[in-house]
Amino acid sequence: MVVTLPRKEDNALLRIAREIIGKTYGEIALQLFDYMLENNGYVAEETLTKDTGIKSNEGRRVLQKMSEEAIIVPGKLKTEDSTLHIWVLNRVALKSFVLNRLKKAREKLEARLNYERDNIIYECPVCGRRYSFEEAYLNDFKCVNEGADLLEANNDEVISLLESKIKELDEKIAELSEL
Ligand SMILES: [Zn+2]
Repeated sequence: MVVTLPRKEDNALLRIAREIIGKTYGEIALQLFDYMLENNGYVAEETLTKDTGIKSNEGRRVLQKMSEEAIIVPGKLKTEDSTLHIWVLNRVALKSFVLNRLKKAREKLEARLNYERDNIIYECPVCGRRYSFEEAYLNDFKCVNEGADLLEANNDEVISLLESKIKELDEKIAELSEL
């Protein structure tokens, strides 16, 4: 497999990748990712604990997980007296991983936006719980929590929040697609 390492100009990609890797794989993955970026794009299994301070079995488990998306790929590095088993950051896979996650997040927001635009939403003035028309109807337009009368919700705010989040994602996706 041909591996292309991330470059200095990949600022946007690496920034967004950090966010997503942290959310998806957790703190240890983030530490490993940062270590690899600062150390020629790889980490060696044999020196993992010495290099990163992360317990070897824990580090390996996270590296395995990350390799499922091919963000990192296994390799071997010959040194003077031994062969190290290394994991190398793979820029191309990293980019498609990040783009896929952003596009999925966008799809979810878009579905939510369409729902908010197409449906009358009811809301409890006491606890703030939201209801679709069907749910409100089935509950006799009363809140299941404390029985307050449901009101038709003004969802303009929710809609504009969703719109601005989608716009943000579109900008990130466009920025990354150009890299
Ligand atoms: Zn309520």
